[in-house]
Amino acid sequence: MECILLGSGGMMPMPYRLPTSLAVRFNGRIYIFDAGEGTQLGLKKTKIGIRGLNVLAVSHLHADHCLGIPGIMMLKAQIQDPEPLTIIGPPGIKKFVEQAHANLGFFLNFSVSFLEWSEQNSEVAYEDGKIRIIWHPLEHSRFCLGYRLEELDRPGKFKPHLATSLEIPKGSLWGKLQQGESITLEDGTEISPEQVLGQPRRGRHVAYVVDTRPSKGVYRLCQGADIAFMEGMFLPEHAEHAEAKGHLTVLDAARIAGRAGVRRAVLVHISPRYNNDELSLLAEAAKSRFEGAEMGEDFQVYSVPYPNDED
Ligand SMILES: [Zn+2]
Ligand SMILES: [Zn+2]
Repeated sequence: MECILLGSGGMMPMPYRLPTSLAVRFNGRIYIFDAGEGTQLGLKKTKIGIRGLNVLAVSHLHADHCLGIPGIMMLKAQIQDPEPLTIIGPPGIKKFVEQAHANLGFFLNFSVSFLEWSEQNSEVAYEDGKIRIIWHPLEHSRFCLGYRLEELDRPGKFKPHLATSLEIPKGSLWGKLQQGESITLEDGTEISPEQVLGQPRRGRHVAYVVDTRPSKGVYRLCQGADIAFMEGMFLPEHAEHAEAKGHLTVLDAARIAGRAGVRRAVLVHISPRYNNDELSLLAEAAKSRFEGAEMGEDFQVYSVPYPNDED
């Protein structure tokens, strides 16, 4: 599992920083969180390609998080037989995308479905055979959602001594059990994988939380995450802007990351007022509160470690 930061900025694209957008690549699929103006540039620059893109999750309807959606759809329409696209987001995302499509009249060769947040929905927004995506409201000047992508639990570790004690011959039967399949021995005994596997192992968890004040949702989404992409928009001396507009400073983000047990916190949605030379100041401030914090960088690839480094 890899996270590719397509942009790390806030508010608008700058020559030195694209709006915040995160691509998670896993099992041949790509899940994108937010698409502001220029996100397709990030896709091209990182050579991720668009073929695996099936899910686009949007935090909120501010331009720096959604203006790039039509461009992404047009890019996807350039490939042959693309798979359907699911767009997840706040109430109004469907109308926004459909009106853009109707007004611009661009070509689409794939179907698009929408999952809009509502009070009645469960915490799990989306699930395929490999991952689930959790959503939770945050506190911003507009309704805003944070996300957490969780790899589904993996089968437990294979215990060879148990297989031997059950007199299962080494070879293909061991392989089947390791992959979670039941087997039948020559004498007709059925063996289920649970008999030879340890406890299921937790998968890798990635949090994506931007454009919010410190709030319950931030903690919920970041709790124990293996990597968290969190807003760190301002230096502490500009905290009044953060408070007024509903954003996190680097100190807020670092403090929450530390308390929530995040392993690695990558701070994004950086204000355009800071150029790249000033990023070390933001990083220093963040690290003073949480050693595992760092500033995000456009086009950087972050591999997601397994919990407890067990693999
Ligand atoms: Zn924003
Ligand atoms: Zn916003």
